[in-house]
Amino acid sequence: MDKFDYDLFVIGAGSGGVRCARMSASMGGRVAIAEERYFGGTCVNVGCVPKKLYVYGSHINEELALAQSYGWNVEASGFDWTVLRDNKVKEIQRLNGIYDRLLVNAGVEVFNGRAVIQGPNQVCVNGKVVSARYILIATGGWPFLPEIPGVEHAITSNEFFDLPELPEKALIVGGGYIAIEFACILHNLGVDVTLSYRKELFLRGFDDDVREHLRDELLRKGIKIRFKHDVTAIAKCGDSQFRVNDASGNSEQFNLVVYATGRRPKIDGLGLENTSVSIAENGAVIVDDHYCTSEPSIYAVGDVIDRVQLTPVALAEGMYVANTLFADGGKPVGYDAIPTAVFTQPPIGTVGLTEQQAKDAGHDIDVYRSVFSPMKYSFSPHKERALMKLIVDKKTDRVLGAHMVGPDAGEIIQGIGIAVSMGATKAQFDQTIGIHPTSAEEFVTMR
Ligand code: FAD
Ligand code: NDP
Repeated sequence: MDKFDYDLFVIGAGSGGVRCARMSASMGGRVAIAEERYFGGTCVNVGCVPKKLYVYGSHINEELALAQSYGWNVEASGFDWTVLRDNKVKEIQRLNGIYDRLLVNAGVEVFNGRAVIQGPNQVCVNGKVVSARYILIATGGWPFLPEIPGVEHAITSNEFFDLPELPEKALIVGGGYIAIEFACILHNLGVDVTLSYRKELFLRGFDDDVREHLRDELLRKGIKIRFKHDVTAIAKCGDSQFRVNDASGNSEQFNLVVYATGRRPKIDGLGLENTSVSIAENGAVIVDDHYCTSEPSIYAVGDVIDRVQLTPVALAEGMYVANTLFADGGKPVGYDAIPTAVFTQPPIGTVGLTEQQAKDAGHDIDVYRSVFSPMKYSFSPHKERALMKLIVDKKTDRVLGAHMVGPDAGEIIQGIGIAVSMGATKAQFDQTIGIHPTSAEEFVTMR
């Protein structure tokens, strides 16, 4: 008889937790998982999935306008928010069921409830204390709101997806992935959108050309953007009416205020005080190269360790822990060239170093840049422009970074990401035969 009830107890059935639990069980581990809110975690319920469904839904507005330039006699005669929202709800309920079944079919024991760590090998869930050789913290993150008067009138991404109705006029605060994706969704659904960002240019950390290009495209489409703008107070002044004051002394009314000002690791009430797990200043659980915390029996992956807040990263980290605990070790997760997309309209796709990062790292670089209007806009009076950019190390000819703004950027950069992470050279890009006519061929024809 084993002295522990389980080999592994996973806290949180989101991207990282589900992957680790399933794989550990399939490798022979006796595994349990606890989930307090929703199976599939942030990504499935209030993140990637509903967001992408809303991006598809809202982009149809632009496709309809384009259709007319191809001779189609179509016009949007109205949009019903409740249809989109309620179809999203049904789809997510379907996915919740799939996640639950995936776990059960893999032999994982599922607890519906909040787990609290009682000690290095003990967890309490639904009033029951169980023991485990290892515990995995995969509790994700939670929206962060700055403390300003009236901020309780603002919503976050958690509430965004289930709005009872669309506002006429919305303010979105923040300049990261979520703020800009949400601004595009609401704008294309017909909402009068203002984006407020505290510094000169949004999407800090992305290539400067990409940031500027996207700014120009969003302004051209009619999204109002306030840079160097600080909201100082929000007051409710009627039914769905909010007065927003800023640091310059201006005030304006909106029907909805959305804060997308980052996410913090979710560790409150987790019982970490019953362990020797170390926490960083921002609440992130500190782990070593094997995702082990300072408590040798406790591991952590995903947004709660705040390395890179992306679903595929949480999946890779969860997989690594399963391999470490139940197989002969995993391949380390490569953080250097993580491809990522921002599902704005137009979208961004990017992998590897930005021009500035390459310079800061001491590379002597060549920069290849191409700006063009994709063929699909040939007949359109509104010619959306695409940007593609390659950063190449002069000494080795290696492509250090590839960046794109334009239709299907996420789809295109996924493939380019393989080449960049394998260390492909510019000469190898050039030797690759293009696919014509596509936007993607530009990556192998830039000279
Ligand atoms: P989560 O998925 O957050 O899962 C943690 C789970 O733990 C939750 O279900 C929570 O309820 C549960 N939990 C917490 N505490 C306890 C407890 N004590 N007991 C029991 N259960 C507990 N990433 C992308 O790659 N692409 C995208 O397009 C993308 N879009 C996004 C859009 C939005 C609006 C947001 C908010 C995020 C988006 N992300 C995207 C990020 C992605 O969702 C996260 O990086 C990912 O979900 C992190 O996975 P995780 O396993 O660490 O945590
Ligand atoms: P981000 O960290 O990307 O952006 C937060 C933004 O809020 C930044 O622009 C930041 O400004 C600003 N901000 C922070 N604090 C304040 C404050 N006190 N007052 C005003 N502004 C503030 O977080 P998000 O919330 O957008 O998204 C969280 C994470 O989720 C992302 O980083 C990403 O990893 C993931 N995600 C991924 C998506 C995808 O893959 N497509 C989509 C959505 C989310 P500053 O730049 O000055 O710090």
